[in-house]
Amino acid sequence: MFAYIDPAIRRRLEQDHRLVNLDRQGGLVDSSNGSGTAISLLGPIPMPRMVGGEEVVFQWYAFVRRLQLERVLEVAGQATGGAEECFRELVQANMSVNSVIACPRFLEAERPLVRVHSCCMTGDVFGSRRCECGPQLEDAFQRIVDEGGGAVVYMSGHEGRGIGLWAKAITYLLQDDGQDTYQANLSLGLPEDSRDFTDAAVVLRHLLGGKPVRLLSNNPLKREHLEGNGQPVAEMVPFTPGVCDHNLRYMRAKRSKGHMLPEDL
Ligand SMILES: [Zn+2]
Repeated sequence: MFAYIDPAIRRRLEQDHRLVNLDRQGGLVDSSNGSGTAISLLGPIPMPRMVGGEEVVFQWYAFVRRLQLERVLEVAGQATGGAEECFRELVQANMSVNSVIACPRFLEAERPLVRVHSCCMTGDVFGSRRCECGPQLEDAFQRIVDEGGGAVVYMSGHEGRGIGLWAKAITYLLQDDGQDTYQANLSLGLPEDSRDFTDAAVVLRHLLGGKPVRLLSNNPLKREHLEGNGQPVAEMVPFTPGVCDHNLRYMRAKRSKGHMLPEDL
């Protein structure tokens, strides 16, 4: 029978505690039946990355909402064709895998600097200056390395504040016709911001055991979500790298929605 992940490999990873199941409070769930699991967390996986011209070996954790993983496993269990055919069916089951990319001393830090970053294909990968996401991500890596004990939490399902890349592309065309970034989402009948940072809170609680973080962000909504889900935030650390003529209107729209941005922007 086709299986998305060989059950013997899964059991071995669980025995080694490199695959763990977490409840909504970030506590460990007994893997024998897995009931009560909110999130499955895989790692740490060493991940070397260049930061400011020097190599740093980060620890990568991947995490996924259990309901989404179960849907994938269900589709795999029902698949009846050959392995390749089954895999093609499986690709259609949607699963957002998020990440923690942690500095080597993240777990020991007293009040680690943490960037919870919403995925932005256009900014993070293409280098678009229509938003400041790309420079924010680079600056975040530099800052957590400078401090020696921080982490980036990368939320992969948050493209376009949750509407996805296709709809985001349409909103860019609407913005070029005069709408702001929030109006454009609403014009499509989509929420202006549907991001949910609950899972980031659960995993941070698990890794840090309730220690507070310093949140590298201008967005009070992220603090609310983390604290509302039991992850203390000692302070917000605002930052504004990457502001330029191409994204000034976008930045001002964010300020009007409560982001902690300078008045003279
Ligand atoms: Zn962006």
